[in-house]
Amino acid sequence: MNNIQSDNYIVYFNDSITELAKFVKQGNYSRAFILTDEHTTEHCLPIVKEQLDELDNFDLIEVNAGEESKTIDFCIGIWKTLIDFGADRKALLINLGGGVITDMGGFVASTYKRGIDFVQVPTTLLSQVDASVGGKTGVDMDAVKNIIGTFTQPKAVFMYGGFLQTLPARQILSGLAEMLKHGLIVDKTYWDQLKISDLTLPSDELVHRSVQIKNEVVIADPHEKGIRKALNFGHTVGHAVETWSLMNDTDPLSHGEAIAIGMICEAWLSNKKIGLPDSELLEITEVLIHLYPRYKIDEGTFPTLLEHMQKDKKNQNGQINCTLLKHIGKYSIDNICTEDELCDSLRYYAD
Ligand code: NAD
Ligand code: ZN
Repeated sequence: MNNIQSDNYIVYFNDSITELAKFVKQGNYSRAFILTDEHTTEHCLPIVKEQLDELDNFDLIEVNAGEESKTIDFCIGIWKTLIDFGADRKALLINLGGGVITDMGGFVASTYKRGIDFVQVPTTLLSQVDASVGGKTGVDMDAVKNIIGTFTQPKAVFMYGGFLQTLPARQILSGLAEMLKHGLIVDKTYWDQLKISDLTLPSDELVHRSVQIKNEVVIADPHEKGIRKALNFGHTVGHAVETWSLMNDTDPLSHGEAIAIGMICEAWLSNKKIGLPDSELLEITEVLIHLYPRYKIDEGTFPTLLEHMQKDKKNQNGQINCTLLKHIGKYSIDNICTEDELCDSLRYYAD
């Protein structure tokens, strides 16, 4: 498996933890900080530490695990810690964790002293195939996801499949949704391969292909003006369902579980609006329904879901915009969907 060249940085797949240690040593940093949550401190830090132990000058900053931590308040805590430790512009932040840590750590680093270097060491499947590549950093505010943030590229990304060994099955499924999405938007062969693979612990090769796809798309369009919108397939409806679930469920949907629902609804919209063949709609629906638990969406929640879709930062001129599929492996951006169409797509899922 090759390392992947991204926009001015390398995504390491081979001996990645050794490469991380090398990177830190060769970077002549004044100090290295590792950002973790309690789960990655327990499961992932020991793996990294083995290689980094010989380093002086590295300090741990731990935040509580979970999306609730992805806020400005937690950023303030991290900024304060950096100040207390006397971190200067030559400090390095190593983000060791899932998407919460890589998004928030990237944001903290991109703003501290107008920007210090950071690297991503993604430890969940979702952060490996999605969050750690592409340069989007940020935090949530007032229940709006990723509303505050920057586009800032890391100095490197280190992929290590071994981290997934301790990841709960539900978190694997969450990342898997983005892998399936990558196949659906641009690579039918990959989708076909995923359909027949054992997906309880996706292989390094499958992860690699997914990162390749994400990387190709974001390199072509780093600031989301065109083709990058392809990655939004499933996310217009999915984000609304995710936000609703975060605010109303005691055990909220994961990102990927919500996106899987969004992909079913948006495949239905693709079929109705731009001619995704019936057989492909059926195939997508069956694969996703088989992999993901059913979620109850009542008619009564539709108005709130539509409100969330209206607030989506991808919209322009107040119209709800979806990325749809012409075929499996062929996306189409900027499809305006009416509220009635979106409600019908939710009904398709609910039935
Ligand atoms: P997460 O960071 O909350 O991780 C999920 C859970 O897994 C946490 O409890 C974490 O502590 C635990 N965990 C992490 N690694 C582990 C390991 N190896 N073993 C055991 N437990 C482990 O969430 P996530 O699902 O990784 O990421 C979700 C976040 O990513 C969201 O905030 C989303 O907005 C963001 N995201 C960003 C982008 C982007 O382009 N920047 C893309 C997709 C998602
Ligand atoms: Zn996503």
